[in-house]
Amino acid sequence: MRIAVGQLWQETNTFNPNPTVWSDFENWGVAEGEEVVERYGETGELGGFLSRWSENRGSTNDELLGLARFACWPWGRVESSTWSMIRQSFSRQLQQIGAVDGVFLALHGAMASDDEHDLTGAVLEMVRGSVGPDVPIVGSLDLHANITPRMLDSADLLVGYHTCPHLDAIETGQRSADGLLRLLSGESVTTRCLTLPMICAAELQNTFTGPPARLYRRLESLEEDPRVLTAGLYMSMPWFDCPHLGWSIVLSTSDDLPVWRESVDELAAGCWEIREEMEAVERYEPREAVERALAVEGTPVVIGDGADATNSGAPGDSTHLLAEFLRQEQIPGGALVFLVDPDAVAAAIEVGEGASFDGDVGGGYAPEYSPSVRLTGVVQRLLDVDWVLDGHIGRNLPIHMGRGAVVRSGDVSVLLVERSGPGSSPRLYVTAGLDPTTCGLVVARSPAGFRAEYDPFVAATVLADCPGCAAPNWSRLRFQNVPRPLWPLDAVVGPYEDGWVWPPVA
Ligand SMILES: [Zn+2]
Repeated sequence: MRIAVGQLWQETNTFNPNPTVWSDFENWGVAEGEEVVERYGETGELGGFLSRWSENRGSTNDELLGLARFACWPWGRVESSTWSMIRQSFSRQLQQIGAVDGVFLALHGAMASDDEHDLTGAVLEMVRGSVGPDVPIVGSLDLHANITPRMLDSADLLVGYHTCPHLDAIETGQRSADGLLRLLSGESVTTRCLTLPMICAAELQNTFTGPPARLYRRLESLEEDPRVLTAGLYMSMPWFDCPHLGWSIVLSTSDDLPVWRESVDELAAGCWEIREEMEAVERYEPREAVERALAVEGTPVVIGDGADATNSGAPGDSTHLLAEFLRQEQIPGGALVFLVDPDAVAAAIEVGEGASFDGDVGGGYAPEYSPSVRLTGVVQRLLDVDWVLDGHIGRNLPIHMGRGAVVRSGDVSVLLVERSGPGSSPRLYVTAGLDPTTCGLVVARSPAGFRAEYDPFVAATVLADCPGCAAPNWSRLRFQNVPRPLWPLDAVVGPYEDGWVWPPVA
């Protein structure tokens, strides 16, 4: 058999006013044709898909054909000219490859450009148009996908992460391979989707210990039924001002019995029931957050700055916590924070290691949420911020955050980087020679995902309430394109009142 594989992956934050451009994709690694498998065949969902495929089909002469791979760290909307180049790349490769028996695409599900709200649906539609109506297409999705009718119309099967923090990228690729093999063996598929008019903050989305844990266990038990091809609950990417925003349940089965509709309804009722609990998060204004963190007995204390979560597409240059650190006379054990600020990195490189640094840092990308602050100190280290993410969001994923500099000001160490990257992983600091396990305070730019790697060694966690492009304080954000009413922006009576179902009811 001839199977085409590709990847289009980014979580777009439409409140980040800075466009994602071609060089951002190049930085994270663009591949076409054979390179897709050769260079990225062991990463995340692609890795899971390919390994499961060879486990099951290793003795056959199947051809795994690379289409294109575009992955980029979460940021603002993709510039339309860049999106047009991405489309051309997929289109060119589809033509070159010719007829195929099946397709797997590793997708995100919340990716937008200047002129399109749904790039995931657009690429699925394009592939469908090329391979024809009978070739099965399977797409994997992040748990924060915003499901659209276009995605459902174009794909045969959408397979989503079951974990938050996202630790099952490989397994999701494996489940996608299982699904594609079933479709290729001739099994039919019926998909039902129900989207609820609700969004929720990310802090309590933990699928192991948080309010939705029970619902994710239910998905797993559904998937144990041989008639179920895949079951998904997508908690949506809320910083995404687009139509079709909301939590979705998607269930794909090999038959079309009323029981499956009941399962979807039951999951929907479960989601609706926990919505208020999901919003009941204790967060503290920056000053109080730092004071509380300093009052904890034991170190280190991690402060989660969800409003500037780089994993949610915020710029990672908020200075609210840094400003509070710099106010302190001393911070036992020292404090660690990182900032995306290419100008400050260039300034540090210009003066060199060991020299004094004196300049404004941060607040360059979204000044309406965060001002810059003056930083004076010593450039302790210059480096290339290259490392490998192996945890929340990525598995074996090469990370390139450009050049970096560590500037030390009193007890505060500031890691300046040129480009955004995972704000949830302590390995970012380790890459720069800083030790988050022995410091006093450390900032994770993440609302929840950081717990996967920080919880094992921190004494306590404090959640900050700062302004930012990924603020869970909904009134601070100007939504214009989302369906209304949408809870909690508006009062909504019940989950079915203003949601939508797919296939549409005649
Ligand atoms: Zn996600």
